[in-house]
Amino acid sequence: MRLSSAPTERRALVLGGSSEARTLATRIAADPRLDGVISLAGRTSAPLAHDLPTRVGGFGGVEGMMRYLVEARISHVIDATHPFAARISANARAACAAVGAPLLVLTRPPWSPGRGDRWIKVESNADAAHALGAAPRRVFLAIGRQGVADFRLAPQHDYILRVIEPPRAEDLPPSCAVIFGRGPFALEDEIALMRDQGVETIVTKNSGGALAYAKIEAARTLGLDVVMIARPASAAAATTHSVDAALAFLAS
Ligand code: NAP
Repeated sequence: MRLSSAPTERRALVLGGSSEARTLATRIAADPRLDGVISLAGRTSAPLAHDLPTRVGGFGGVEGMMRYLVEARISHVIDATHPFAARISANARAACAAVGAPLLVLTRPPWSPGRGDRWIKVESNADAAHALGAAPRRVFLAIGRQGVADFRLAPQHDYILRVIEPPRAEDLPPSCAVIFGRGPFALEDEIALMRDQGVETIVTKNSGGALAYAKIEAARTLGLDVVMIARPASAAAATTHSVDAALAFLAS
C-alpha cells in the first residue's frame, strides 16, 4: 500500500500528546496553505482542546496507520508525541516508510544536569526503583501512572505519585499517596510541595522542555537527589526541536 500519487494539497497528520503538538496544531490551523489532523491516543479523559480536527485512539499498529495515511490523504506526518512514547514513534517510522509519506519528528531537547544538580541517571523505571537504594526514603514520582507498577519492586519507600488520571490501585506500591496535577507547575509551588511533603528524592523521566522543569529546579534549590530516567532509544529519523522548522517541512 503506497500513496498512489503525492496528494496535491498539504495535509498533515500530527501525532500528538505533547505541548509541542498543540502549538504546531495552532500554527497549522492559522496557515491558509496547510490543512491537518491531530491524533491523540485517548489516554486522558479530558484532553486539552486543539485547534485542528482531532481523531482519538490507536490506529491498529503499523498496518492501521498505513491504511489511515492513505484513506485520509495525508501528505506529511509530524511525530510530535512525547519522547517516551516509543511504540507510536516506531509505528510512524514504519508506516511512513511503507506508504512513502515524509516524516519529521518534533521533540524537545532533553534536560542536562547543571551546577548543583544531584542526578542519578538510569535507563528504565525498574532501574530507577533499584537506584533508590535499600534504606527507606520519601520519594516523589513524576513519571505518570503507566510506569508506577515498577516501583512495587522497592516497597520499602514512601511514595507520592503525581498524575493527571487516576492510576490502577493494583499498580501502586504499598505506601503511595496519589496527587493530581497537570503542568505547568510554578517553581515556588514545587519547592513548597517538596518541602511540605518531606521529599528526599524525585524520580522523573527526562522529558525535557520548560513546562515540567520546575521540579528539577526545586530539587536543585533544596539539594534533593533526582533519579533521571533516560529516553528510550529510537531508530534514526529526521528530527527538529523547532515548530518553525516543522511548518517549513509541511510547506516544502
Ligand atoms: P506508546 O506506548 O508509544 O503507544 C502505544 C499505542 O498507543 C500505540 O501503538 C498506538 O496504538 C497508541 N497511540 C499512542 N500515541 C498515539 C497517538 N498520538 N495517536 C493515536 N494512537 C496513539 O504511547 P504511550 O507512551 O502510551 O503514550 C500515549 C500518548 O500519551 C502519546 O500520544 C504520548 O504523546 C502521550 N504522552 C506520553 C507520555 C509518556 O511518558 N509515555 C507522557 C505524556 C504524554 P496503535 O498501535 O493501535 O496505533
